[in-house]
Order: sequence, then C-alpha cells, then structure tokens
Amino acid sequence: MSQVDGMRLTVLVDDSKNPIRPELTAKHGLSFFIELKAGRHTTNLLMDTGPSADVVLQNAQKLDVDLRKVDSIVLSHGHYDHTGGLLGILKHIGKKVPVIAHPGALEAKFAAKKKRLKKAGIPFRVSELEKSSGILTLKRGPTSKAPGIWVSGEIKRASPFEKVKGFKTMRRGKLVDDYMPDDQALFVKVKGKGLVVVTGCAHAGLINTIEQAKKVTGSSGVYAVVGGFHLAGASAGRISATIEELQKAGVKVVMPCHCTGKKAITKFSKVFGKKCNQLRTGNVVTF
Ligand SMILES: [Zn+2]
Ligand SMILES: [Zn+2]
Repeated sequence: MSQVDGMRLTVLVDDSKNPIRPELTAKHGLSFFIELKAGRHTTNLLMDTGPSADVVLQNAQKLDVDLRKVDSIVLSHGHYDHTGGLLGILKHIGKKVPVIAHPGALEAKFAAKKKRLKKAGIPFRVSELEKSSGILTLKRGPTSKAPGIWVSGEIKRASPFEKVKGFKTMRRGKLVDDYMPDDQALFVKVKGKGLVVVTGCAHAGLINTIEQAKKVTGSSGVYAVVGGFHLAGASAGRISATIEELQKAGVKVVMPCHCTGKKAITKFSKVFGKKCNQLRTGNVVTF
C-alpha cells in the first residue's frame, strides 16, 4: 500500500511569541522536522528552514532533534522566512542532501508594502547553494519521495476566492506581480488516518492545495491540514469559504500556524472545536 505507518512532525520554529517551552526561540518563519515511518524504514524530511539557521539549530538541539538524520530538505517556496536557514543547516548536516524546490523559488522576490518594495527572496546567492552540500533538485511537477509521501509540484489555481496579492518578482528584467508558482506543499498518506497536507504559507491557496493533494495522491478526501494558511488579512468571506471547502473535503484536523492570522484561527476553532490546534515552536504532533 502506498502509505506510511505513522508520521511525527516537530515545529522547529514558528512566529507565535509563546513557544511551548520558555527556552525555545520563536521567530517569523517556519521549519518542520517530519519523521515518516513505514515498516522498519524511516524517512526524515526537513520542510523549510526558518529565517536563519541559528534559531532552528538551537531549537532542534533543545527538542532532541538530530538534523544530521535529514534525508531530504523540501522548500515550500522561495521566501526568506522559509529558506534563510538553509545554508547554515546544510553545513550542520555535513553530508550531501537533496534540496527539493520549484525552479521559481530561486527567482528574485519582493513584498510590496505601501508602494515600497522589500526584498523577500532567498537571502543568499544560488551559487552559494550550489557550492554547499545541498543537491539542488528543481522540479515543476509532483515528486514522490517514498511510498505514501509526495511533494505537490506546482499547484493549479482553480478556486475563485483564492488570489495571490502583494508579491512581486523580476521576469525578463521587468518587475511583475508574483503569483508564487513556486508554492508547494507536502502530502502524506497515513495508515488508519488518511491524507495529511502540510503547507508552508499556502500562497497558492489552501483549497487549491487540497485539490492538488487529492489529484496527486488519488485520495477522495483529506484528513488533516497543517501549516501556514496565509489568511492573515483575508476577508471574512474568504475565511468562511475556506472553512466550507475544508468541511466538504472531509477535513477532521486543522493545525494552523505561521501566516494563518488570528482572525482565521479563531474561526477555525469555532468550527472544528478541539480538532483545531494552533501549532507553536516546539509542538510535536503525531498522525
Ligand atoms: Zn511566503
Ligand atoms: Zn511565510
């Protein structure tokens, strides 16, 4: 069967100012250490690397996570708060490790705020990454890492209420709107549970992401959604529409963090009750 027996996800860094233990450091950004067990075999993935290596490495040590065990690094997209720690973490790992990303993740990226542009892309040169122990693996389509484990590939934009706003990129020397084609998620089929969808920022839209998940994995529904859902600043209408679609997809467990926003988390909690848990730095969840 194309599934894993169990999944354990540790939040190495997240924005919430209340890490689960006072000695852990919170910072704007995201990094998940994900252990996937199938029989005797364990696949260890690092999804995103936070804004800088120091905070991720220190938290990992305090959480007893040995990052040298990482088999592959998955970058959810090219923003600095998900990629900034990459070089330092690769140095710490000290062995050749595939770094899976969409080619668009390497493009220049900016956040547009009140007519001002702020650099928002990978905060180092691609040549530095190529010289590191990372084996840069750029793919536009979905990739299966092991039976039951997929990286989404570019996510089709079909949902009428999920639009990407506020980002710019350079294409052929011109500053243009960035619809974040590089935004990817991780899909895991877990025995006895179902499909778990792990997002970085879900810039592609959470509903577009779960549609992609169903298509890529051949599942009819989704069990859990975990990660940043990028609903901070979203309209009440978009948040309600998102919740309605999650219910239609049969989602049972919701674990928002990072860029989901307080307003959305409050609404998720009202609808999903105890099955909605906000993740913070240091949380360990198992499926
Ligand atoms: Zn982002
Ligand atoms: Zn982010």
